[in-house]
Amino acid sequence: MKELIDKLRRQTFLTKEEYMTLIDSRTPALAEYLSEQARAVRHQHYGHDVYVRGLIEFTNYCKNDCYYCGIRCSNRQAQRYRLTEEEILSCCESGYALGFRTFVLQGGEDPYFTADRMVKLIRSIKERYPACALTLSVGEKSREEYQAYYEAGADRYLLRHETADNAHYRQLHPDNLSPDNRKRCLRDLKEIGFQTGCGFMVGSPGQTTECLAEDMLFIKDLQPHMVGIGPFIAQHDTPFRDRPSGTLELTLFMLGLLRLTLPKVLLPATTALGTIHPLGREKGILAGANVVMPNLSPVSVRNKYLLYDNKICTGDEAAECKNCLSLRMKAIGYEVVVSRGDYPTESSERKETT
Ligand code: SAH
Repeated sequence: MKELIDKLRRQTFLTKEEYMTLIDSRTPALAEYLSEQARAVRHQHYGHDVYVRGLIEFTNYCKNDCYYCGIRCSNRQAQRYRLTEEEILSCCESGYALGFRTFVLQGGEDPYFTADRMVKLIRSIKERYPACALTLSVGEKSREEYQAYYEAGADRYLLRHETADNAHYRQLHPDNLSPDNRKRCLRDLKEIGFQTGCGFMVGSPGQTTECLAEDMLFIKDLQPHMVGIGPFIAQHDTPFRDRPSGTLELTLFMLGLLRLTLPKVLLPATTALGTIHPLGREKGILAGANVVMPNLSPVSVRNKYLLYDNKICTGDEAAECKNCLSLRMKAIGYEVVVSRGDYPTESSERKETT
């Protein structure tokens, strides 16, 4: 099986059958080999740098009803909140002082945040922090709305495709959400000019090896700048409350496959990975990831943005999260850097070598 990993590293893609073979025949030794290769590729492009993104979970109101998600609209137990513009700007202020140069506004699909309100918010953040990148993660919108966000100054957009397999998508979402629209959004975002991120949960209910292989082909075809993956973790007030979580081991393996498939991709070691194992994020970095996303949300709302159970860092101040992650990265030989951490373009790479 090592030959398949070598082949993937050499040509940066495999067939669906080859991805399936690799995933199904993984052993601890094969996983270790994949991690070594993935790390080598990561070091070629990013050295031992780790990029940080300050995550601001600015609303947990959501009009959607995704079966896996703790802030789905039919969860009456969720305590709903939305941050004001002043509160969001004050998160940015403390984040900037801590060395963050990317802010990620993530939330449910909250109808209160109309296009006009989003545009106003984007403008005020970019006006105050022109040196920072602004990433949005607020779900499915029309192309026109995405265009307006971009023109207001947003730089990046995260929208996990969740699963590339249409039948599997239908098992995870109610009928009013369609896999075609989700993919349409991703293509619009890329065409508009956003640095775009897709991604999926590992071990979500109904996921098969074939689904994962389809995810790899979809991602290779889309060529996103970022890919967010993490284990599915049940939330006790959702229809999937009794479903088993995705595993650390499979998530790390998928991170390795992603690094070899898209060598320069921005790949976070996610909070969900840190939730299923105390050293999950460290292991994610060692498997090929190069981004961490500590939380900048005010402590008062931290324990309300609960997509899944046992989420880590819900009681910590931003500074504690940042310090903790910097120390964790140092302990494994990596360094959190003060940088926007953009996707490397060919000209930026040439600059670095001259
Ligand atoms: N509303 C935005 C942001 C969604 S939350 C959007 O639609 O893009 C960000 C991600 O958290 C989701 O895309 C999903 O992949 C992940 N997530 C949601 N529930 C989860 C769970 N129970 N376990 C693990 N990840 C989950």
